[in-house]
Amino acid sequence: MERARKNILIVYTGGTIGMIKDPHTGLLSNVDFNLIADHVPEIRRLNIDIESVSISQPTDSALMTTDHWNEIAQTIFENYAQYDGFVVLHGTDTMAYSSSALSFMLEGLNKPVVMTGSQLPIGIIRTDGKENLITALEIASSCDQNGDPIIREVTVYFDYKLFRGNRSTKDSASEFEAFKSPNYLELASAGVEITFFPERFFLSENKPLKLGLITGNEVALIRMFPGMKWEHYSSLFEYPTVKALVLETFGAGNALLTPEATELISNFITQGGIILNITQCSSGSVDQTKYKSAEQLMKLGVLGGSDMTTEAAVSKLLYLLSNAPEDVKKKVIQNLRGEITN
Ligand code: ASP
Repeated sequence: MERARKNILIVYTGGTIGMIKDPHTGLLSNVDFNLIADHVPEIRRLNIDIESVSISQPTDSALMTTDHWNEIAQTIFENYAQYDGFVVLHGTDTMAYSSSALSFMLEGLNKPVVMTGSQLPIGIIRTDGKENLITALEIASSCDQNGDPIIREVTVYFDYKLFRGNRSTKDSASEFEAFKSPNYLELASAGVEITFFPERFFLSENKPLKLGLITGNEVALIRMFPGMKWEHYSSLFEYPTVKALVLETFGAGNALLTPEATELISNFITQGGIILNITQCSSGSVDQTKYKSAEQLMKLGVLGGSDMTTEAAVSKLLYLLSNAPEDVKKKVIQNLRGEITN
C-alpha cells in the first residue's frame, strides 16, 4: 500500500543558512527563503509536499528575543492541524535557546518540530546547509507503518545527528559538528540510513496542543568565576523586575559563598525570588548534597537544576513565570519535556 505523502511546513527565521555577503561591507545579512529553495532544488525531488513561511523579520539569531519565540511558536500552533511536521530554519548561535523555549511553549506536541541551520551560507559551495535541510525534511516526514510520526518533540538536527531540543547546546563556532547534547544521547543518527532510537524519545500525554506564550522577561543569569566580587552583582539581585536568577556554579553545584553572597541570595529568596543552580560544566549534574558550599546554597533556598543546560534553565523559567507563576518553584525542578534526567 502506498503511503500518503507528508506535508511539511518550513518556518524560516533567518541565520547563516539564508545569508548573503553584502558586496560593499562584506557583512552577512539575511535574505528571504526563496534563495534557499533555489539553492537546494533537491528538496523538490523528495516525496514530500513542502510549503514555507517566514517570520516577519528573519534575523541573525543573536538578535532573537522572546517575541521571535512567540512568533515561531504561534506559527506552528496555528498551522498544527494542516501539516504533518515542521522544519524551523534558524541561526545556530541561539538555536538551542529557541529549541528549548519551543519545547516548553508547545505543550502536548505530537508532531515533529525539527530545527536546523548551517555554519556556511547555502550559496557557498561547501555549505553544510543542504545536507542539514534535506535530512531535517526527511526526519520531519518520517513515519511508522501506521503513518504516524516517528518524532513527536522539538529537536535540533545538525551534522548527521538529531538531538532533543532542550538538551542541545551550541558547542563549536567553526566546526560543522556545531551542536552537542552532553547529558542525553541523540534521538537519531543519519548515515546511509536514518537510524532512530525510539527508547530515547519524549512522548507527551495524548492531549490537544497547548500554546504557552512568554509574556515577560524577568530572568537573569550569573556565571561564577573564582574570586568574583558579589557586590558587582548586587544591583541585579535588587533589581525590581528580576524574579528568577540562574546561577552557573562550579562542578556539582559548588559556589564561592562569601558573606556578601549569602546576604544577597538570602534577601532575594526571602522576597520571593527564585534561584536555580546549574553547573557551568558542559556535562554532568548539580547535586546540592555533595559539598558544603552547595549544601549552604540549598539551605538558603536555592533550587538544584540537576543536569539542565543553561538554555533549558533560562527558557524554562521564562516560560513558567508567564504560564504558571504560582508554581514556578515546584515545576522548575520537575521534568516537564525531557529536559532533566529523572
Ligand atoms: N550569527 C548566525 C546566527 O545565529 C550564525 C549562524 O547561523 O550560524 O544567526
